[in-house]
Amino acid sequence: MSIPSTLQTGWEEAVAVRTRAGLLRQTEVLQPLPGSRPCYRDTAGMTLLSFASNDYLGLARHPALRSAAIESLEGGEYGAGAAPLLGGVRTEHAALALALAEWLGVEEVLLFGSGYLANLGILTALVEAGDQLFLDRLAHASLIDGARLSGVRFQRFRHNDLAHLETLLQKPTAGRAWIVTEGVFSMDGDLAPLPELAALAERYGAGLLLDEAHAFGVLGEQGRGSLAHWGLTADAVTLRVGTLGKAFGSYGAFVAGPRSLMRWLQQAARSYLFHTALPANVAAASRAALDLLRQGEALRKHLGDLRDTLQTGLQGRSYLPSSTPIQGLILGGNDAALQAAAQLRAAGMYCPAVRPPTVPAGQARLRISLSAAHDLHDIEGLLAALQGVDGNAR
Ligand SMILES: *Cc1c(COP(=O)(O)O)cnc(C)c1O
Repeated sequence: MSIPSTLQTGWEEAVAVRTRAGLLRQTEVLQPLPGSRPCYRDTAGMTLLSFASNDYLGLARHPALRSAAIESLEGGEYGAGAAPLLGGVRTEHAALALALAEWLGVEEVLLFGSGYLANLGILTALVEAGDQLFLDRLAHASLIDGARLSGVRFQRFRHNDLAHLETLLQKPTAGRAWIVTEGVFSMDGDLAPLPELAALAERYGAGLLLDEAHAFGVLGEQGRGSLAHWGLTADAVTLRVGTLGKAFGSYGAFVAGPRSLMRWLQQAARSYLFHTALPANVAAASRAALDLLRQGEALRKHLGDLRDTLQTGLQGRSYLPSSTPIQGLILGGNDAALQAAAQLRAAGMYCPAVRPPTVPAGQARLRISLSAAHDLHDIEGLLAALQGVDGNAR
């Protein structure tokens, strides 16, 4: 136990500063209660209905995932024990990758430990010195961190602003250009204008990396995501990233694209090379989730009904209209957002305040995340609990 006192006072003060600013972050223990609705018990014994999960289809509690995981465990091994290139993968991983590739109509899919790792690996492996990277202003932290780690100078274009992106693309450069964006934005729930982005990428010979973390399972026929939603084919983008931790209700991630690219990622993506493969039973559960997700039209329809009910109830509020299960109620200041979250909690609902730096300063909010496991009654309860919640947003 020897932490130099100079260091210690440094971070203690930094935590104190955040606490005073209403920016302290803490993880709490929430135990799932039986049933398909996303209910949890906190450490004080209170029952909370969650509006914070990205388990959009409610698959995390589906018995088919549980039995697939248990059946795989009968194979005798829990942890995979080594990196895929060292210790190999199991039939569960191979079957999952094949099924994902078939679902998306791509040549190949490569599994990663998580979406965060996938984005770090892709950007560092694909981008070379002299290349230019253009990221949407609201791109996820993992994309920004990947861009930083790539070592090239990168620029951020104004959110979904095609004209701004084009002025950046017009500047002559020796290397290649990459456009990086999300199909559905994680905090605002709005969509990227993909047909126009794909056309721009083609016109300027730029690569297009699309993060589908919040789109797969939610948008398009069979939950195939943004390309299906916009009526585009797989070749409209260079590659797509998906996580298995959100609408799949499982854990892990994947990258989908041309075989030659996947081959290269296997050589050069360090977060692939140096990560331990997912446990086989996690892959098995994800495979079961894919079947449910593909057949999930009724779940997606129900999700749309819940969203419409919420939107109708929130009319006239400082509210971000979105066609996805991500619904933002902007409250402005951090304290206003914390207070709103506390009011919901007192009413038995869990929807933590999202504050900077996750969202821009002055845009602290409740990020209401809907799930097909909610029922209409839950939305009415939420609307009642939100009575009188108002921020200092402009
Ligand atoms: C959640 C998320 C990730 C990270 O995925 P994990 O599997 O949770 O690591 C990447 N990109 C976006 C847009 C996300 O929302």
